[in-house]
Amino acid sequence: MADVTVVGAGVMGLTCAVRLLEAGHRVEILARDLPQDTTSAVSAALWYPYLAFPQDRVTAWSARSFEVFAELAATDPGIGVRMRAGTEVFTERPTDPWWRDAVGELTRTADVPPSYTDGWTFTAPVVDMPVYLAWLTERVAASGGTITQRDLAALPAGVVVNTTGLGSRDLVGDHTVHPVRGQVVVLEQWGLDRWWLDAAGPTYVVPRLGEVVVGGTDDDGAWSREPSPATASDILDRAARLVPAVRDARVLRHAVGLRPARPAVRVERDGGVVHCYGHGGAGLTLSWGCADEVADLVGAA
Ligand SMILES: Cc1cc2nc3c(=O)[nH]c(=O)nc-3n(C[C@H](O)[C@H](O)[C@H](O)COP(=O)(O)OP(=O)(O)OC[C@H]3O[C@@H](n4cnc5c(N)ncnc54)[C@H](O)[C@@H]3O)c2cc1C
Repeated sequence: MADVTVVGAGVMGLTCAVRLLEAGHRVEILARDLPQDTTSAVSAALWYPYLAFPQDRVTAWSARSFEVFAELAATDPGIGVRMRAGTEVFTERPTDPWWRDAVGELTRTADVPPSYTDGWTFTAPVVDMPVYLAWLTERVAASGGTITQRDLAALPAGVVVNTTGLGSRDLVGDHTVHPVRGQVVVLEQWGLDRWWLDAAGPTYVVPRLGEVVVGGTDDDGAWSREPSPATASDILDRAARLVPAVRDARVLRHAVGLRPARPAVRVERDGGVVHCYGHGGAGLTLSWGCADEVADLVGAA
């Protein structure tokens, strides 16, 4: 068993810390931003493999996470994870998604809003991120892990897990990680219990308990964290084509997150450092699968 420093406190850092603590390691998390201020907190968050590569590893990580989220949803609703049915819509007949093996039943449907012709319905984990990140944080603390706020200019010595997402550009000089900006509008919940997705937009309407998250955008290379009113208005227009009730819902807030995109998610060991970053638009979706692999890589120390 080792002393492990996890750098980063988004969904990846916290999930890795949980698995490492379970394996008997002593874990300290160091992070510039605490969990509720990370990109992870902005996440919608629907289980859906999006903007993450390569397909074979992403499918395996997603499948593992799906299993864990299904268990968590059945354990206690207070964790913030729910299994919800929803529909992904298309304007032409879709082929099977490349991540088909990661999800259980996938049913074709023609019961889609006007302007669409086809759809898949399936049940997937939907995660209320602020609630879930708080639960992960408590789970880390309850197992003896610590979280300290610190902006690092370099990785520390010793056994380190690097889950800094976009921060890896500067921290480890990896300029293949780049931002894909996503803007969302958070609405007051009006009783929506299904999610809707048009990945081509991307446009999505994702129900949480007290809120509905509506998106979105995927601006490659854009760094601004300032929500744009014009973009918000466009998002609401697009979302109302999926779920007309969006038009009448009260806007609670606007948010922007920078997805840490990379040509391939990096989960690998390099000396004393296990890297785990570059999850693009699927950090939540990949979290438990990647954390299991990180724990194995640390254990092999
Ligand atoms: C609008 C939007 C919607 C999304 N929807 C979904 C979805 O529905 N499903 C899904 O699976 N994914 C979704 N995503 C993607 C998901 O949010 C990300 O893939 C995920 O948050 C990445 O998690 P992470 O822990 O790797 O990074 P982050 O959450 O960015 O955390 C990185 C951590 O590293 C720390 N850090 C960085 N640099 C340093 C440094 N130098 N020193 C110390 N600490 C440092 C940060 O402070 C932070 O604590 C969405 C993203 C956005 C923006």
